[in-house]
Order: sequence, then structure tokens, then C-alpha cells
Amino acid sequence: MQIAIDGPAASGKGTLAKTLAMKFGFDYLDTGTLYRAVARDALAQSVDLQDPEGQAEALCQIAHNLVLPLENTDGLRAAEVAQAASKVASLAAVRDALIAKQRSFAATPPSGHGAVLDGRDIGTVILPEADIKFYIDADIAVRARRRHLELSVHDDSLTLAEVLADLTERDARDKNRATAPLIPADDAIFIDTSEKNAEEVLQLVASLVEERQ
Ligand code: C5P
Repeated sequence: MQIAIDGPAASGKGTLAKTLAMKFGFDYLDTGTLYRAVARDALAQSVDLQDPEGQAEALCQIAHNLVLPLENTDGLRAAEVAQAASKVASLAAVRDALIAKQRSFAATPPSGHGAVLDGRDIGTVILPEADIKFYIDADIAVRARRRHLELSVHDDSLTLAEVLADLTERDARDKNRATAPLIPADDAIFIDTSEKNAEEVLQLVASLVEERQ
């Protein structure tokens, strides 16, 4: 079974995807980590991300070289890596380099039972034939509070206003890019998590998945 979960940052899609996969014994792929890994490695190699188009060849090479499961996950959650990820993710060539890796994970998940993929274009581009698709969203103020709480464990200098600005900028870039923009697939089930806790979202989604099994 293939489950596609899309939505903006801090909408609750990652927690949902991870717990859903555990509940059903499926494998989980957080596709954001692929773009984050390309961005982290590009920053480490001093690739100039002010002009991603001009650096397409170097970025593509980094993307091609990624192997799943990612061995090195250091530094992927940093705020500057998230921003850089959304810049490299706007390049069609980088996205193309990552398509086959994501589809292959979904087609042959290690458990052999099923796969849950979360990201921005899973239902629209990566797995258009997924068995079930969800689009998870929440009010931007709620998302900013959640992400601030999460990040302030590691960096207590980060303000809520900075997190809000970061999410707003990334949302705009992800929704307005020409290739694979963040939009709900026509057949996605829309869930607003603003007033739901993680357990409520999981129960709701799990019951819909059970109906499709
Ligand atoms: O989900 P996460 O916040 O880790 O993703 C980081 C960035 O990677 C996003 O802002 C987005 O630009 C990009 N991304 C994407 N397509 C995906 C997953 C992530 O463009 N399927």
C-alpha cells in the first residue's frame, strides 16, 4: 500500500506519517530530508545558493549521489538548512534527480508491506497512483508556535517572529515555484490540524486508511 501525505512545514504531516507507518507496520520516508541533505552538502561545499539556477550542475550531482536510507543525518534540522532546502527544491533538475529514489522506496519498501511518504509533491508528482492521499494543513500561527517549540530545544535564541517569517517565506517559495509546487492533489483528503492533537489526527487518518485496505 502507498500512502501520500503532503502539506506545508509544521502542519503535523511528519508526526502523522511516522506514527501511521508504525501503526500499520509500513516504512516511512520523509522526503524533506532528501532536499535538506542536498542543501546541507551544498552549504558544506560552499555552493552559492543565492543563485541556485547557476549552480544547477553542482546541485544535481549532489542529489544524484544521495543514497537511501541516508547515512548522515547530521545538521538536517537546522533552520538555515530548511531555508536552503526550499531554494534547491525549486530546481527542476534537482527534483528530477530525486524522483526515482523516492518511487523506488515506495515500490519496494524494506518491510514489504507498504510505504508512507510525506513531502510537498507526493500525491501530485511522485505517487500520482497512491492508494490514498492526504493534504495536511494548519493555521500559520499554530504552525509557527509548533515549530518554535521544537527548534527552541536546541536554540533558545530563536524567536517566534523569526520562525513565523521563515515559514512564510518557505510557504511562498514552495507554493509558487514552477516545478512541482505545493498544492493538494485533486483526490487528496484535506485535514486541518489547527485544533487537533497528534493522536486525534492519527486516529482519523488511520480509520480512513483501514477503509481502503
Ligand atoms: O518537509 P521539510 O520542511 O523537511 O522540507 C524542507 C524543504 O524541502 C521544503 O521547504 C520544500 O522546499 C522541500 N521539499 C520539496 N518537496 C518535498 C519535500 C520537501 O520541495 N517532497
